[in-house]
This record gives sequence, C-alpha cells and structure tokens, in this order.
Amino acid sequence: MRALAPGFTPYRWARPTHEVAAQAGIDPSQVVRFDQNTPSLPLPSSRPGAVAGALARVSGYPTGGYRTLRRRIADYAGVDPDNVVLGAGADDLILLCARAFAGSGDVVALPQEPTYPLFRIATQLALAEVGEGDQVMTFACRPNNPTGELRPLPVTRPLVVDEAYFEYSGETAVDLLGDDVVVLRTFSKAFALAGARVGFALASAEIAAELNRRQAPAPVSTLSAELALAALASPPDVGPLLEERARLASALHALGLSPWPSHANFLYVPVEDGPGLADTLARQGVVVRAYPDAVRATVLDPEDDDLLVEALARALDRPGPVAAPGRRRVRRVRATAETGIAVRLGLDGASRVRVATGAGVYDHLLEQLAFHGGLDLVVEGAGDLETGEHHTAEDTALALGEALDAALGDRGGIARYGDAVVPMDDAIARVAVDLGGRPYVKLRLEPDPGLASHVLGSLAQAGRLALHVDASGRDPHHTAEAAYKAVGRALRAAIRLESQAVPSTKGLV
Ligand code: PMP
Repeated sequence: MRALAPGFTPYRWARPTHEVAAQAGIDPSQVVRFDQNTPSLPLPSSRPGAVAGALARVSGYPTGGYRTLRRRIADYAGVDPDNVVLGAGADDLILLCARAFAGSGDVVALPQEPTYPLFRIATQLALAEVGEGDQVMTFACRPNNPTGELRPLPVTRPLVVDEAYFEYSGETAVDLLGDDVVVLRTFSKAFALAGARVGFALASAEIAAELNRRQAPAPVSTLSAELALAALASPPDVGPLLEERARLASALHALGLSPWPSHANFLYVPVEDGPGLADTLARQGVVVRAYPDAVRATVLDPEDDDLLVEALARALDRPGPVAAPGRRRVRRVRATAETGIAVRLGLDGASRVRVATGAGVYDHLLEQLAFHGGLDLVVEGAGDLETGEHHTAEDTALALGEALDAALGDRGGIARYGDAVVPMDDAIARVAVDLGGRPYVKLRLEPDPGLASHVLGSLAQAGRLALHVDASGRDPHHTAEAAYKAVGRALRAAIRLESQAVPSTKGLV
C-alpha cells in the first residue's frame, strides 16, 4: 500500500452511546447527543412507507443515475440537473473533489483551524499536501464547523465550498458555479437523513461531468434516494431551530459562557478545558464535541437543550438559569415495523405539551390528557398512516404508557389513587385511576369517535394502571375529550408525591 502522509490522522468518531451510558450508569435511551449536528429525530417524511417501493426492488441496481432525484435537487437548489453530482453524503464529495482536483505533490489550501477535519484527510488521501500559495484548489466551509462562522469566501479558484449547514444560514456560493466554484450540500443536517448518507455537489455542467466520471457508479443506495426524494417533497422549516438557537445562546450567556454567534445548528462555546468539560458532561449522559479550549453543542429543541444547560450549570457549579429538572423524567423510543415514536415525559412538569405523530384527533386527545395531568410531554414520530391511524395511535399510547411506568420508577411515595369528573357541553366523564401497578381497564365511552377507548386501554396496559372510565354524551368528540381530560386530572392526583412508600394496607401493592 502507498504510505500516507506523516502525521495522517483518520476521521475519529465520538464515543458511542452505549459506552457513554455505561460510564454514566444510565440507560442508553437517556443519553442526549449534542455532538452530531443533526436533528434528534427524522422528518415525518422518513417513514417505512417511503422506502417500501425501493425495498421491493432492492435486488436490482439503480439504473439511469437517479434522474428524478437529480431533477428534484436541481429544483431545490435553483440549478439544472446537469449541475448535480450525487454522493454518499458531503464527505464522499469532499473526497471526490480532492482526488479530482489534486494529486501527488499538489498543494491544497484549507480553511483556517478549527475546521472540519475531512478537508485535511481528503487532501492527504489524494497524496497532496496542505499549504498555501501555489494551491491547485481551495476548500472553504460556510458556515464553518465547528465555529458556526460565515467567513469571507476565498478568492482563489478552483474553490470547493462546503455548505453542509446551508439551510440554517441561507448563504450560498451557488451563483458562482460559472467561476470554477463547486458547492457541496447534504441531506444529513436540516433534512435529518445522516444515516441514509446522501449529499450532492453543485458545479458547472463541465465540472459536474468531470466529477461524475470520477465518481463511483452508484454511490447512493436506492433506499436512501427514496428518503431524499420524500424529504425534498416537504422541506423542513428551520425557523423554530433558529429561534431555539437564540434561546440556547442566551441561556449559555446567563451561565457566564460566551458562545460565538452561529450561522448553523450548533454553538461553539469557548471554555478553559474543553475535553475536561466534555467528560464531566458525558458522565451526566450529555455528549458534546470537545476542542482544546471549547466545546461545540448542537441546538436540538427546548426540552433537550434545557438538559444541556442544566448539566453545564452543574458541571461549572453555577446556578442553573432554567427551571430545575423534575426528578421523574424519562425518554423512550419505541420502534416497530410500522412506527417510530419518541417520548419525553416529565411527571413534575408544567403542562408543556406537544404530541405530533400525525394520528389526527388522537394526538389532540393525548395532548389534552397530558395538559390536564400537569405533565411535560413531547411525543414525536411517524407511523404508516397509509393503513389508517390505528398503528400510530396505538403505538403512541403504548410508548406513553411505557414512559409513564418508567418515570414512576418504584412508585414509592405517590398518592396512588386519583379520580375526576369532567363535563364538556353535552358529555360527562367519570374517571378513577389506581397506580398500584396492576393493569386493569374498564372503559365505557359512548359514543367513541373510533379508537378513543382502545388508546386509553393501551396506555393503561403499558403504564400498569387500573383505569375506570365512564363517559357518555351526544357528540363522540366531546365524549372522548371529556374522558381524556378526566384521565389527565385523575393521573395528576395519583402521581403526586406524598411520602416515601406506595400506600397499601397490605404492605404490598
Ligand atoms: N461537511 C461538514 C462541514 C460537516 O460538518 C459534515 C458532518 N459533520 C459533513 C460535511 C459531512 O456530512 P455528510 O453526512 O453529508 O457526509
């Protein structure tokens, strides 16, 4: 084999989740990764149904070079399909550009450190050298990973601009394709498809043709191509992420830290000892990327980002600027062939509720239940709604029940019993709940809008509750809504912490 450059360091992954969990002494599902610069959940378009057709044809090669995907990417990026080169992620295209433009002994100019390590790796794998002055090509990273800056565009050509985080900044060099500029993009970040490995380069038709001549015959799998197409059909709205980036930055400022202004979905936070701080955070199940004098943290959503802020406050021994965490808080992911549901539940919450699975009225009913239960509940996921709401609604209820069971722990000290009567216009619901741990359901919802009883029954089974519901009315939605609100109110009473043990005269539950 040909020798690599002296000092060559291959790409290094961060520590895997199971290792972090083992060191922290927690379940892997409780580890929160702020080191990947990816959204924590897939887009709703990434469902089993999206790849079902490709799966049925997976024994064959893709033929024809993904014309539809290239056309849709071209539409998305405002170019022609001839300008598009596909790759297995932007990484693949960084490697392709390096070997296409540079060779043995050539000089390649890289962005100032700290920057994304793959530019150096690709240069060295092409047997070229990192330097400046007589470069055969230049890499730029806009926004720059890990700092989040939008540095000025280099004037040297040919220029390869890595825009992996383009969607968060809106800044692009795509207008310069006619001027020896190549733009690299990815589906890994805003489109939440990092595991699918799809990226693309945008270049003049001539350069794109030359890159395609040097690219592997089928760098993207047919399954991944379908996921990318589905994602492009409903591109994500990064607005909430940008708002959350500002909120997280001010929470970090309140902790006395000084994150750099960011144009991406992460914050670069200078600290004295980056690796030391990252290690302390990892022991609490919070993973960030470490640099000698900084850490980099991905912006996720308010619930997760508050965990980061709390963990940082503990690590730095400073008072936390966000609400103190309830002790009874869990995360659960439930994945089946039909659905993937992620649940975050806090029992000592403030009714911060979001249920978004696409299961229509059942999302709304579970939100009502959680809101009136005083729970913090975020349920996100996607199910195969083609076959109706049944799978998704049922799996959501099971996932919520499992989360409730886990959050209740050994159930020591809770009130255990709760009841509520809730009217809603023509409907009235009477509910009693026992959290002693023996599941039992006796449900009467008349009329039931469809799955309302079934969803409550699934929740009770998975959550190990005895649940009695008697609800009736003229309108099925009023009846269900009264029932779910009443279950929420009864749960609120039953989960309240009263003492150290579950009340039971037998000493057993
Ligand atoms: N470029 C930059 C600047 C990145 O941060 C990353 C991912 N961390 C990539 C490229 C690689 O992205 P992909 O998953 O598309 O290979």
